[in-house]
Amino acid sequence: MLTKKALGIELSKLKTFQKPKPNLEQYSTEAEIASMMLWIAYMNSDIEEKKIADFGAGTGIIGIGALLLGAKKVYFVEKDKDAITVLKENLTKYNYDNFSIINKDVSEFKNKVDTVIMNPPFGVQKAHADKEFLITGFNTANTIYSLHKIESKKFIEKLCEENGFELKNMIHINYSLKRQFEFHTKKIKKIKIGLFIMRRK
Ligand code: SAH
Repeated sequence: MLTKKALGIELSKLKTFQKPKPNLEQYSTEAEIASMMLWIAYMNSDIEEKKIADFGAGTGIIGIGALLLGAKKVYFVEKDKDAITVLKENLTKYNYDNFSIINKDVSEFKNKVDTVIMNPPFGVQKAHADKEFLITGFNTANTIYSLHKIESKKFIEKLCEENGFELKNMIHINYSLKRQFEFHTKKIKKIKIGLFIMRRK
């Protein structure tokens, strides 16, 4: 089995978005952050031998990490075809066949899984774009690991409450957002985000 460090190194070698699309809030999760969230889920027995969904999978860093940590099956759900092209390229490096790529809007995902682990749009371009990701998670999973802005905490607690879930933990992460779109004025913008861990009550 991999160590946390080896996982981070492996994930850092994956290809990322060629031309990220601002309207879809396409930001690749940095390998260090992806491996940290995956490792926490793994240590909580939420990955190995589990069915996992990566919503807004993009180029696959989170779902591929779950495969590397011994997931039983991974669903990559992503609506952008161009991202899926890169995701498929990333997957060819490995010999996994226990995954499925679903090129649809997240709200159309209907399979049951154990764990959703995701970095959804934060809703900066489209208000509460993360809501449909969370709602789909509540309908299909028992446990959700998800990155959001810290300021979304109240909103997320309320959504959990309405859907029979409980916010178990919110781990603070300092996130360096690199300039990638024209409307970004700083080269690196530091934002505070949270890894939200939610479980069905
Ligand atoms: N999970 C990847 C990408 C995060 S960026 C990573 O961690 O690197 C968010 C992703 O969600 C983008 O790839 C975007 O195309 C996708 N996305 C945005 N809205 C979506 C929706 N409604 N349904 C499915 N995917 C969506």
